[in-house]
Order: sequence, then structure tokens, then C-alpha cells
Amino acid sequence: MSAAGRLPGAEHDEDALWQRELREQFPIVTAHPESAYLDSAATSQKPRAVLDAVQTYLTTSNANAGRGTYPWANRTTELVDTTRQRVKDFLHDPGPDRSGVHFTSGTTEGLRSVARDWLVPHLTDGDEILVPHADHRANLDPWLEARLLLAERGVDIRVRALPYQEGSGDYDHRALDGVVGPRTRFVAATHVHHVYGGDMNVHRIREAVGPDVPICLDAAQSVGHLPVDVSELDVDFVVFSGHKAMALPGTGAVWARNARGPVFRPGGWQGTPNTAGIVSLRAALDWLDAAGPHRIARWTTGLAGRLTDRLRHLDAYEILGCQVSLAAGSALPAAQRRHGIVTFRHRDIPSDDLGFILYSHGFMVRADTMCQAGVGEKDGSVRVSLHVYNTVEEVDRLLSVLESLN
Ligand code: PLP
Repeated sequence: MSAAGRLPGAEHDEDALWQRELREQFPIVTAHPESAYLDSAATSQKPRAVLDAVQTYLTTSNANAGRGTYPWANRTTELVDTTRQRVKDFLHDPGPDRSGVHFTSGTTEGLRSVARDWLVPHLTDGDEILVPHADHRANLDPWLEARLLLAERGVDIRVRALPYQEGSGDYDHRALDGVVGPRTRFVAATHVHHVYGGDMNVHRIREAVGPDVPICLDAAQSVGHLPVDVSELDVDFVVFSGHKAMALPGTGAVWARNARGPVFRPGGWQGTPNTAGIVSLRAALDWLDAAGPHRIARWTTGLAGRLTDRLRHLDAYEILGCQVSLAAGSALPAAQRRHGIVTFRHRDIPSDDLGFILYSHGFMVRADTMCQAGVGEKDGSVRVSLHVYNTVEEVDRLLSVLESLN
């Protein structure tokens, strides 16, 4: 193993070997050694175990779920039902009866379901909800739509913005007290920001709102990237995309604490579920648990730290969401907890051009406004998002290109 192939530190020697074995399990990655996929925040690549599970299912017991009494149909129903439990286990749900899992096509649909099916029926005139205004649009639009739906029914609610600390990529937790009040009935927050890559410290929100206000967590950028423990987080809804966590496109789930009342329409099976997708989700969660979410997080955080640490010394680049910590000194506290996402701008090169230049060198990155609410077209940036199949060499090659443009 070359020195450049690992992150510094003894534990990273072992991690480098472990990572190499895992990387080998991604057919699309090994088939394109000249390219580097650095857009995992958009969607992840899939390990062979997931592809195999889907193929096995489709060639041995494909049928509809929740209807039919022959073995293939029964097997499909059982797979869907047991995958609900698999999701609960993956999220460290403490008990089998305390929660429900609803399958969706991704986080967007999941958040919309929470808004329409749970939030709208629970609000009355004068209630207030707190929502993020500079996170992913998928975590803003459903709450604004809920307000409109309620207004059509003559119910007037107030939508308040979760305060941000400008330049830090974090909520302004100190300002929370100013927006939380006796009519606060619900908070929507994000676990890991899809542009800044930082953990948004939802426990601080719990402290501010107290134990009784439901919190819905957009976990699109955390499930599959780091351990997500619903007891520790103390939230009421966890919404995520399976396709960002190694499962097939068109997969996702909502976990909901039952204590908050049933989230989704009861009454058996509503339409045909994405059975092959659900099978892929189950295989993906098995794969991730076997790989170890802690270790995955250590790897991707290490790569992001390496990228940030060198990029911040290049004058031509501005790293988004790091401004406060960079100004504070050289310790880079925030950068160390970037969960595999680093977003930056070049002083002179427009972001879409920079994205194109990087692609000409084999790097697939996101270069636009990344669906961030409240951000205009001209504020585009380049996002590098890493997963466990990415290597130190890829980050170093990327840095060489970025340095040549400094
Ligand atoms: N929320 C966050 C934080 C995201 O990063 C994304 C996707 O990038 C979404 C929501 C939407 O996810 P999906 O496209 O799977 O619905």
C-alpha cells in the first residue's frame, strides 16, 4: 500500500485494506478505474450483494405483495413485511411495537407523506411549525404546501424559519429560543446538510423545543453514511432515500414513532409496492451493517477532511459552510465533522465550467445549486460527495487538478 493510499494514523492502515476490499464489491466502480464518482450525495453506487439480491428475487419469487396466496406471493409479502423490521433494526429502534415504517420512492415523497398524512390532520388554527429555509427544497416545499392545504380548509398556521448561523453551515441554536413558543407544534430539520456536509445537531433542537414537540428528520445524507440511532437522536420521524444508501433508485422509507399516532393510512396494502426496490433496500442495509456505519463514517470524514485541509490553503477557492471555523483559526473543527461532503467555489471560474473541467479529468461531481432552498442560479457551486468506495488517490488526484487551477 503506497503512503498516498491511506489516511495518516495506525487505524487508517487497517481501514485502507478494509476499504480496498469493499471497493472491489462495486462493479461500476471497478469497471471504470479512470473515472472517479464523487456524487454520492445525489445517489450511491450499488454493491454486488444488492444487485444479486434483486436478481435472485426477480428470478425466483417475483409476485405482487399483500395479495395472492401462492408461494411466490407469500414470499414477496414476507419480504416486504420483514424489511420493515430490518429498517427499524438499522435505525436502532428500541422495540418492535413502538414504530411504523412506510416505504416511499425517496426522501421527497417521504417528507410529503409526513406533511399530508400526519401534519395536516394534527394542526389547528394558530399553531406554529418550524422549518429549515436553506436546506434541501424537499424539506421546505411539503411544509409550505401543508400550510396552503390547511388555509383552504380555513385553518391558519404560521410557518417560522429555523435560524441559521451565517457562514457556519449550521443552525443557529442560540437563536432557537427566539422562535420556539407555546404554539410550536412541529419541527422539520436536517441531519446532515446536503451542501455543507455538517451534522446539524438536532439534539440542540430537542433541547430547545422540549420533549413533546414532534421532530421530523431529513436523513437523506446520513442513513448509509453514518450510524443513525433514533433513540439517541430523540426524533419522531426519520425520512431517507434508499438509493442514496446503496439500494436501487426509487426506494426510500419513513420511520415514525408510534407514540405520535399512526402516520399513514391504515388498512393493509395501498397499491403495488416497489418490491424489487424493497428487496434491494434490505440487502443494502445488510451490506451497510456488515461494513459498519461507524467505519464508513470514519473513512468518508477522513477523505473530506483531507480535501478540506488542502483546499483551504488555495486562495482561489471558497469552501461553503466552513467560513466561521476557518476564520476562527487553523484547528478546523467544523471541517473534521464534514460527513463526506465538501462544497466550494472558484473565485474566477464559474461552477458549471469548473464541473466540466473536472469531468474532463474523469471526476463526476455536482456543479449547480443543488436544490438548496433560497439559493439563486448565480450562486452555484461544486460539490464533492464521497462514499466508502472512494479512495485517497482519487482525492489527491482531484486536489492536483484543483491546485493547477489556483
Ligand atoms: N433531502 C436532502 C438533504 C437531500 O440531499 C436530498 C437529495 O439530494 C433529498 C432530500 C431528496 O431526496 P430524493 O431525491 O431521494 O427524494
